[in-house]
Amino acid sequence: MVFTRGEGVYVYDAQGRRYLDFVAGIAVCALGHADPGVAAVVAEQARCLVHLSNLYHTEPHLRLAEALVARSFADRVFFCNSGAEAVEAALKFARKYARVRFGGHKVGFVAFTHGFHGRTMGTLSVTEKAAYREPFAPLVPGVTFAPFNDVEAARAAITEETCAVIVEPIQGEGGVHVATLEFLQALRERCDAVGALLIFDEVQCGLGRTGTLWAYEAYGVEPDLLTVAKPLANGLPIGAVLMREPVAAVLQPSDHGSTFAGGPLVAAVALHVFRRLSDPAFLARVREVGAFLRARLEAAGLPGVRAIRGRGLFLGIEIAGDARAVVAAALERGLLVTTAGDTVVRLVPPLIVTEAQIEEAIALLKAAMEAAGSSR
Ligand code: PLP
Repeated sequence: MVFTRGEGVYVYDAQGRRYLDFVAGIAVCALGHADPGVAAVVAEQARCLVHLSNLYHTEPHLRLAEALVARSFADRVFFCNSGAEAVEAALKFARKYARVRFGGHKVGFVAFTHGFHGRTMGTLSVTEKAAYREPFAPLVPGVTFAPFNDVEAARAAITEETCAVIVEPIQGEGGVHVATLEFLQALRERCDAVGALLIFDEVQCGLGRTGTLWAYEAYGVEPDLLTVAKPLANGLPIGAVLMREPVAAVLQPSDHGSTFAGGPLVAAVALHVFRRLSDPAFLARVREVGAFLRARLEAAGLPGVRAIRGRGLFLGIEIAGDARAVVAAALERGLLVTTAGDTVVRLVPPLIVTEAQIEEAIALLKAAMEAAGSSR
């Protein structure tokens, strides 16, 4: 099967068959496919300036950084090209901060079960799942894993030797698990007590997907660093680390960098996308449609459902059977969905999805789950 084009919430294969896309490039195409506004910015900026390297400033990346700072806890932004690069950079910045502020002993990271932070050597080191890690061991030493949402275990794991704690406020790849308020509050308190930095990885849950611009806003708990990527340029590769001034203050030119990062083409698109995603009316609509999706899923009588988790348009359906069989059966019926672990079907549609498209998706999903025997 080869896909040739997309339009809004639909994609089309080479035979002209239409699919309803509830994957969105894995939580990337928040504004859907072939968005005319995005296309116009790509064309306009491509005619103007595509790349210069980070040796020079350009207007798009300065304006994008300004916009991200104006709408977040952060004072400074570092640009890169992907989610893994953003996490990698955040880990390096945390190490540098601890070294400058406290000396060389404070190098430990604390991360959590079911967390996923990327596939580079550094990001794999803070990703718990053995299947991702073991083929590439040994990884970066000094990482302690604690059970997600276990306040006491987290308090014990975070010590004076910890330079940073990394957590997804809503875990994606690991099965769509939502952090409790008590958990994030305890991480913040404990990090402050031992002088560790708190990193929120919002590569998947950030930028409006959960109905607030940042997932952390729903908790009222702020990080010191935040990683963002996937939807920022609606499919063009970009990542960013948002951070507070004291962290930025320890970084010197050439401590870290990247040839392509924050280039004017991708930054111009990201600025356009960010303005639209951060519009309060857009976010209110995500909350409305997200609540509709959840309510309709709960009322649909889907077979073999054990739990429905998530927030906004970031939902996971835990089933009794094999999630991959449901994904395959849905594809046959013209619906794209993906997994989040062996038993979770993940729904991350474009944020422009309508109620009618949700009804259509649920009917296809129900047929797929019945065909796949997901209750077995
Ligand atoms: N962090 C989180 C929470 C993710 O979900 C992902 C990817 O799924 C990453 C980091 C890695 O991002 P990328 O695939 O862009 O490297």
